[in-house]
Amino acid sequence: MRTETILKYANERVPRYTSYPTAPHFSPDLDARDYGQWLAGLDPNAPVSLYLHVPFCRTMCWYCGCHTKATRRIAPVDAYADILLKEIDTVANHTAARLKVSHIHWGGGSPTYLPPRRFEALMDRIRHRFDVLPDAEIAVEVDPRIFDDAMASAFVASGVTRASLGVQTFDDSVQRAVNRIQPRELVEECVDMLRDAGVTGLNFDLLYGLPLQTVENCIASARMALALRPDRFSVFGYAHVPHMKPHQSMIAENDLPGAAQRLAQADAIAGTLAAGGQVPIGLDHFARAGDELARALEAGALRRNFQGYTTDTAPAIIGLGASAIGWLPRGYVQNTAHTHDWERRVLNGELPTARGYRLTPEDRLRRSIIEQLMCTLSADPAALAAAAGLAVPQADLSAFQAAGIVAREGSRVIVDPAYRPLVRNVAAAYDERLQTSSARHAVAV
Ligand code: SF4
Repeated sequence: MRTETILKYANERVPRYTSYPTAPHFSPDLDARDYGQWLAGLDPNAPVSLYLHVPFCRTMCWYCGCHTKATRRIAPVDAYADILLKEIDTVANHTAARLKVSHIHWGGGSPTYLPPRRFEALMDRIRHRFDVLPDAEIAVEVDPRIFDDAMASAFVASGVTRASLGVQTFDDSVQRAVNRIQPRELVEECVDMLRDAGVTGLNFDLLYGLPLQTVENCIASARMALALRPDRFSVFGYAHVPHMKPHQSMIAENDLPGAAQRLAQADAIAGTLAAGGQVPIGLDHFARAGDELARALEAGALRRNFQGYTTDTAPAIIGLGASAIGWLPRGYVQNTAHTHDWERRVLNGELPTARGYRLTPEDRLRRSIIEQLMCTLSADPAALAAAAGLAVPQADLSAFQAAGIVAREGSRVIVDPAYRPLVRNVAAAYDERLQTSSARHAVAV
């Protein structure tokens, strides 16, 4: 019964709600001048987070959905790092005071493709222009195929505390089918190097829904991953959108598992991780019991942002690098995604803003309802609306209630954890901008 119910909704296209409103609703009307004012208005007493985007990889994985470019040449990566130094200065010049930083997240692409001395120089520049708090989390997305002793030393010198490893699958045939050859021994070596470098927090990313993936090889990969004792997992379903990501056409649609198989694979990975002591967090994350993320969930302090589930409670995230998205108290702002345009504008001393979104009180209310649902599978829209002094947003949950997906306790809306894969569908009922016919989002399961 549960399977049939989930499959009924599995092919709906719904956002991942790492923001609300979601990025397709950002507008070019919001420009560098607005962003400059927002930066100048940041409270110097409140810490901020920094997100740095590195849009380069050595080779392209066919499943990739990120904003990145494959290149074997290190020269463009080196040049990019130089411009990033300048963007750090430009942003710091726009703030009214030296800001405190509580979180730094390096994403991509492959931040570990940066030459190690460049990574260190960028971290030095951040420390020179901002007050990085002594207990700040400094997290880096790591490609185990491009990580070596020199980068491990750069991590030590820069005080990196957390690494997210793109593991995806340990199955050789699946790895070949998606152009990401990454033997188990290589991941083990990378984990050892990171631990030796004092990186105490480890996240693994796993994928399901890839060509040649089966329930059996998903379970085997999850078990191998557990044996390396990471603290956290993110488990994503492959989103096949070749109209947006042309390299994905290297994966034949006929080779992809169908919705029922995808659900079975997701369930199999979740069951394996739970049996290994991992606690489910929100839609698709897992954390070892006692991990900070699991504790934040228990304490009602879990947040969701562009990097997924997080303990980061800073009221502002400043995005740096081509395509990087920032999240400020007044709204969202995104840098131009065209690397040459980003470079030209930063070299001109400009903020390279391409678009953004100014939040209204109504948006903030809907955002908090959606964020609570995505984090805790539960929200009290009436209480949140009362606190905001606004009317309760209307949402038709009747079909979800009739199917047993959603229950109500007073004014509280509760998603049954058995239907966790559908929490985005429930959250979408509070999204007044969602066009359900839109193909811009990936399928629900
Ligand atoms: S390494 Fe990561 S960002 Fe780069 S192509 Fe592969 S999946 Fe995409």
